[in-house]
Amino acid sequence: MKIEINKLLQEKAVPFEFIVHNDELEDVEGELDENGALVKGTIIKLAKGSFEIELTIEMTMVFPCARCLEPTPVPCRYNYADTVSIDDDATELDLIPVVEECIYINEPFRILCREDCRGLCPKCGNNLNHEQCDCENDGDIDPRLAALKSLL
Ligand SMILES: [Zn+2]
Ligand SMILES: [Zn+2]
Repeated sequence: MKIEINKLLQEKAVPFEFIVHNDELEDVEGELDENGALVKGTIIKLAKGSFEIELTIEMTMVFPCARCLEPTPVPCRYNYADTVSIDDDATELDLIPVVEECIYINEPFRILCREDCRGLCPKCGNNLNHEQCDCENDGDIDPRLAALKSLL
């Protein structure tokens, strides 16, 4: 999403609104769902080559659960404000890097599909939320794990 900056008047806020899709974003961890992200905000020209941008992003991001890796949708709404400087002779300002920065600094660090996610079986990789495997009962436990277990 590029804004033609030579149309902007000094100190006058100009609104913008657009949708960003996942393939337009590079520097973020999560994936946008198929609806993309709704970006709304304003841009103000402060001086030649200097702009103040305020925006709100609403979207659903999908992260792998930290325990079982199941894709987990998370509704997100982030606010961001920044002053952006660009070359004096530039004619456009690309808002995508601003959107990426906003998502990057706000996106959650660790997502669980649910509070009590049971994760994956360390032996066979079975998702323990869906079904219990037999691994824990077969007596063939990793000796390092057994040592840990005796401490519990
Ligand atoms: Zn999980
Ligand atoms: Zn197992």
